[in-house]
Amino acid sequence: MTSLAIAANGLRKSYGDKVVLDGIDLAVPAGTVFALLGPNGAGKTTAVKILSTLITADAGDLQVGGHDLGADPQAVRAAIGVTGQFSAVDGLITGEENMLLMADLHHLPKSEGRRVAADLLERFDLTDAAKKPASTYSGGMKRRLDLAMTLVGNPRIIFLDEPTTGLDPRSRHNMWQIIRALVADGVTVFLTTQYLEEADELADRIAVLSDGRIAAEGTAEELKRLIPGGHVQLRFEDPRAYEAAATALREVTQPHSGLRSGGGTPDDEALTLQIPSGGSQRELRSILDWLDAAGIEADELTVHTPDLDDVFFALTGPGSVPSQPNQPNQPKENVR
Ligand code: ADP
Repeated sequence: MTSLAIAANGLRKSYGDKVVLDGIDLAVPAGTVFALLGPNGAGKTTAVKILSTLITADAGDLQVGGHDLGADPQAVRAAIGVTGQFSAVDGLITGEENMLLMADLHHLPKSEGRRVAADLLERFDLTDAAKKPASTYSGGMKRRLDLAMTLVGNPRIIFLDEPTTGLDPRSRHNMWQIIRALVADGVTVFLTTQYLEEADELADRIAVLSDGRIAAEGTAEELKRLIPGGHVQLRFEDPRAYEAAATALREVTQPHSGLRSGGGTPDDEALTLQIPSGGSQRELRSILDWLDAAGIEADELTVHTPDLDDVFFALTGPGSVPSQPNQPNQPKENVR
């Protein structure tokens, strides 16, 4: 049996009348990345604060690093590292001084503290900036310093609360590489994110938090299979070709065409038609055969497999409407 780094059963937390976590279960195997995904206000930070002993739960059987959160929070604290949205970085002192302060907090002997600080600054590409005040660092550098400070204590379980929110794409990819390297070293990462792409890229397992409950949990692939959404999209340059194809598609009758039921969904402005399809070779062939037979020549044909955006919107939004106003990434189209 794989050992669990984090196990929560029946985790509950309310603020006044507001139920934030309504009895959730979480199981994170050691050495894996777990992403808790949810819209703003879903309770992700609350879950991290509870599991990292910053606040207490109202109820639940909670184990982190093999220690009971209620009975032995001190042992939990010794096993974990936390970097949150509110960074521990002190801007008035240099990056190196921040690191040395952390080494002191962990009671490392001076020489070892210096060695660990220098190693981590090097690993996080901060050596050149080490003697500069942290207030002069870019957002990405501050996040890296924050994580480097967390690693001074060599934690085996790390909570990362929205580690890349607000970072530019390059810094985000950089942080992903750092996280992957940590996991390769056997560290367990509990990540919260509002970026679907981030969960898809990094997480072994993903839980979608919605209305205080886990709406779905599984690998990215398992979650994608939960919902329909696969389709072939045809795009036309010429409005007349588009009209003709839309008409032909409306006339298609399921049993003879070999096309899946559901018809096509036209988008008159983008001049695109969507045909439901799981994307299998057989289905694509029948769509192509039908297009040939109907004399339709699309300017572009793309296969869209359901992605985490589809899952997220289907699970978290009322009537499939996204709960967040600004979705960071667009649905992916896989051109084949
Ligand atoms: P997320 O991290 O998913 O954005 P949070 O865990 O920060 O969500 O918040 C979940 C809900 O709990 C929100 O509605 C928030 O307003 C509420 N909340 C969080 N902390 C407190 C608090 N200390 N007192 C009252 N309500 C809180």
